[in-house]
This record gives sequence, C-alpha cells and structure tokens, in this order.
Amino acid sequence: MRHILILGGTAEARQLAGRLSHRHDLAITLSLAGRTAAPAEQPVPVRTGGFGGADGLAAYLEAQKIDVLIDATHPYAAVMSAHAAEAASRGNVRLLALRRQPWAGVAGDRWMEVDTIDDAVLALGPAPRHAFLTVGRRDIVAFAAAPQHSYLIRSVDPIDPPLRVPHATYVTARGPFSEADDRELMTKHQIEVVVAKNSGGDATYGKIAAARSLGIGVVMLRRPALPAVTTVETVQDTVAWLDHELAPTERGV
Ligand code: NAP
Repeated sequence: MRHILILGGTAEARQLAGRLSHRHDLAITLSLAGRTAAPAEQPVPVRTGGFGGADGLAAYLEAQKIDVLIDATHPYAAVMSAHAAEAASRGNVRLLALRRQPWAGVAGDRWMEVDTIDDAVLALGPAPRHAFLTVGRRDIVAFAAAPQHSYLIRSVDPIDPPLRVPHATYVTARGPFSEADDRELMTKHQIEVVVAKNSGGDATYGKIAAARSLGIGVVMLRRPALPAVTTVETVQDTVAWLDHELAPTERGV
C-alpha cells in the first residue's frame, strides 16, 4: 500500500482524489488549508490546516510515511508549492505538481498583465470605474487604496470585514461560472473592467470570455514564480505518471 498526499484546494485535486479513491493499492489523504468555511465534499480522508512551514511538512511526510506528494494547489498558492518542493527534496519523497495551463489571450481580448496585486490596483487608473474583482478574499484588501472605484466583488465566502471603500457590492458564489451568466452579471452592474488571476481551466473562464464579447478590458495578474518540479496539466496525466512511478521495476531491464 502506497501513501499519497494530495495538497488540494482546487477542483483538480478533488477530481484526482475521486479517480484514486477506489484503488486498493493506494491510501490517499487530501490536505486543505482550511480557508473556506464550508469546503466541498471530498471523496477521500481530509486533513485540514497548515503544516507549519516546510519543516512541518517534512515532519508530516516522514511521520505519515508518505511515498508520493502531489501538489495540486492553485497556481497562485506559491508559498505552499515552495514548501512542497523543499520538504519533498529533503525527505526524498517523489513530488509531482498538477497545474492547469494558464489561459492565453485570443483575438478580441483586451488584457493588461501585471505582476502584483498593487499593480492591478494602479492599473484601474485615477478616474472612477466599475470594476469586477475576482481575485480571492486575501487579495481584495489591496483595493482599499483606490476608493474612487465602484467594486463588484465575487468570492466563495463573504468578505469579512468588508472592503473599506464607499461603493462595493458583494456576490458569494462557487464556480463554475458560464460566459452567459457572467455577461449578464457584468452588464447588470455596468462593469467596465475585470480584475482576475490567470487561473486557467474552464470553471472561471466565463468572465474572460464575457469581457471579450462586451469589449471590456481585463487586468490580469500574472502567475507567481513556482518551483521547477515535474509538472503535468491534467488529472489524467497525473494518474498516468503515478502508475508509471509506482510500477514495479522489472529485473534485468
Ligand atoms: P499559500 O499562500 O501558498 O500558502 C500559505 C500557507 O497556507 C502555507 O504556507 C500553508 O501553511 C498553508 N496551506 C496552503 N495550502 C495548503 C494545503 N493545501 N494544505 C495545508 N496547508 C496549506 O496558499 P494560498 O494562496 O493562501 O491558498 C490556500 C489554499 O487555497 C490552497 O489550498 C489553494 O490551493 C487554495 N486556492 C488558492 C487560490 C489563490 O488564488 N491563491 C485560489 C483558489 C484556491 P503552512 O506553512 O503552515 O504549512
């Protein structure tokens, strides 16, 4: 029996856990940071909360006798990914990163790419605008520095405390979001610009496609630097990699 630890918090991590949950040769544990109040149901045992840095994760890998670590965190969870790379290399644990391919701009997109959330705030400019923020709870606070804008803020959990600006409307929702629904939402709120992370995947692409069809710009936060580790882009490729890694080596070959 091999023990696999999946670092999750993404749809892919949940799908991977579902794909592996019936395997008799594998024991699967899924790890969540514990950020969302009511996380989605998971098909395998879950542990919740930080490990206590790379040291804590290394100790966990050893104590739980983890054979393979799969970093299926969101591409913007750069701290966790760095800790995973460090702890795995220290403990000689096999590591695979599962990361969606970023979206690529297509004809008709009006993206302004920025490297930091503060640059995203500046990119909105000095004149008041109606902006749709979809960057996640932790990064929302930066927009308090630009109180002249009217914000539509979508998040999984309520933003608490609310953003310290005079004009903010909150929508709590969990994806997937369709292009048609996002177009309707953006039209209703007279949105002039979208602020997004380049998450990749279909579930949150609706707003990007809607912005394109409405002729609206997107301030796109570039992906953070991530450790250079073996990486695949799909759940299917993760399962194939695991099968290959865990296959018994043939004698004499
Ligand atoms: P982060 O900044 O990279 O990590 C901060 C700390 O949170 C880590 O050092 C670790 O604490 C803990 N942590 C993060 N992911 C964890 C996991 N899967 N299991 C256990 N501990 C975890 O992470 P983040 O950007 O805040 O993301 C937190 C979670 O939300 C992740 O599971 C991620 O996949 C998910 N998520 C993030 C985003 C995003 O835009 N950042 C979007 C969607 C989902 P210790 O150092 O104590 O171990």
